[in-house]
Amino acid sequence: MEKKKKKKKYYRKRKIKPKIRLCIFIILIILTFNFINNVLKSSNASRNIVTEKENLPVTNDTKENNQQIAVFPSDVYGVQVKNEIIDKETKARSGEKRIIKYIVIHETDNFEKGTTAANHAMFLKENNTSSTSWHYTVDDKEIYHHIPDDEKANHAGEHNGNEYGIGIELCVNKEGNFEKTFDNATKLVAYLLKSYDLEIEAVKTHHDFSGKDCPHKILKNNRLEEFKKKVKYYLKL
Ligand SMILES: [Zn+2]
Repeated sequence: MEKKKKKKKYYRKRKIKPKIRLCIFIILIILTFNFINNVLKSSNASRNIVTEKENLPVTNDTKENNQQIAVFPSDVYGVQVKNEIIDKETKARSGEKRIIKYIVIHETDNFEKGTTAANHAMFLKENNTSSTSWHYTVDDKEIYHHIPDDEKANHAGEHNGNEYGIGIELCVNKEGNFEKTFDNATKLVAYLLKSYDLEIEAVKTHHDFSGKDCPHKILKNNRLEEFKKKVKYYLKL
């Protein structure tokens, strides 16, 4: 009888051990499951951060990784844009695709009567000798588009300005209304900043790159901040 009891006790002891083992096993499974769950959650969280980053306005640093699709506007805030793209075979077309980082402001410095945007567009189209080129010309009535924005042009007299800048010429023909030209140019710049996700800091002058006194009237009269202020105004519309 005594022996039987002992045996039973021993048996009970043996029976408890597997139960503990089972409990430990279950606890381990739960802990492992929780661990895996937490790892998955944190990886999802980091994935969300990346997605949020991708949705942020594109800065110059991230610009390299993003595809920019060139725009061909026909109207910017009520100002007509005529697409008179220069023939690919002319010297004015580099044919080199690039990333857009800047909008570079110029003035034609041509005060002669009739030196309008249309006149400059014609000059660029017929020009076969010079590689000087830019993307848009603006006057008091309209805007001409000469070269696709994602193609390098030769207007800034310096590598970075040419490589990354959209060149915009403002007409200063004596019969023209420069105030209207000034306003039309700010509308175009606002449109381009929006199109290419650029900040106001992307607005540069020819002078910024090569030191040339261009855009002469704007710089002489200290109107660059006024220009940018107007651009910001249109950006909000
Ligand atoms: Zn210039």
